[in-house]
Amino acid sequence: ACALAVLAMTANGRSKDLTLARGNDSLPRAMAARVELKLEAPVQAVEATPDGVTVRLPSETVRADAVVLATTASAAARIYRAGDRIERELMATPYGSVIKVGLATKRDWSDDPGLRNVWAMMIPRGERRQIVSVTIESAKDPERVLKGGEMLNLFVTPDNAERMMDWPDEQVVSAVAADVERLFPGALAAKQFTRVVRWREGMPKSPVGRARALAEYRRTRPRDARVWLAGDYMGMPWLESAIETGTWAASRIVEG
Ligand SMILES: Cc1cc2nc3c(=O)[nH]c(=O)nc-3n(C[C@H](O)[C@H](O)[C@H](O)COP(=O)(O)OP(=O)(O)OC[C@H]3O[C@@H](n4cnc5c(N)ncnc54)[C@H](O)[C@@H]3O)c2cc1C
Repeated sequence: ACALAVLAMTANGRSKDLTLARGNDSLPRAMAARVELKLEAPVQAVEATPDGVTVRLPSETVRADAVVLATTASAAARIYRAGDRIERELMATPYGSVIKVGLATKRDWSDDPGLRNVWAMMIPRGERRQIVSVTIESAKDPERVLKGGEMLNLFVTPDNAERMMDWPDEQVVSAVAADVERLFPGALAAKQFTRVVRWREGMPKSPVGRARALAEYRRTRPRDARVWLAGDYMGMPWLESAIETGTWAASRIVEG
């Protein structure tokens, strides 16, 4: 369903996928520049009462009419303990771990006809070993790589990512080396540097029944609800969907 949603967003592949030139974090940075923001302020508890919400931080307590709770699911479950059945079910959404091995090379694959206009690929399940997908950064934005070089972002399969989560970087890189070489022969010999990045809760999973729970949540939330859940686990695992869940929640509060 997620793959079909992406196809729908790109008019069945006729229009181009776009990316943010200065990286995905430029979006939250741009938004942060326009609103009042508190950094290093971990919320410890969100408590709803009939006339508002109390948000407890280590050194202060904030009162609000309503809250859009947009942390990851597990963090939401920790700080918002009074959730009802459907909220608890959604806040229990499991995540897959993600490890990305960024490999900067001194050569590129731009002359490979099979890779023309390809910025990302998934390895079919039957052919998968350690790597599940690859993005080719120069195809997203040539400015991201040095001339004549390439930046391959290689994503380790979720089960391997879980297994390798606490391994040192060098061990992760050597564990995926044979698979990298199989997919991009010569890439390691042309290596400039590697960078390993880990997300223990990288991508929300979608167990059977989750979409039904989401539909029920949207259908049944009372208009005067004080706490509204948002984030990619409340929709699909990408930026546009995460934003849509937040704007949906905010518009319910405003209409309230
Ligand atoms: C490797 C990788 C590559 C990706 N690439 C893409 C891509 O190219 N395009 C795309 O559209 N999507 C991509 N995604 C998915 C995208 O990053 C997510 O869907 C999106 O960031 C989800 O946004 P969110 O606001 O729901 O959650 P998050 O971005 O996870 O934000 C949750 C926030 O809650 C904060 N938080 C947690 N606990 C507390 C607390 N107690 N108090 C206060 N704050 C708290 C966290 O610090 C965090 O900032 C990628 C994801 C990964 C892991």
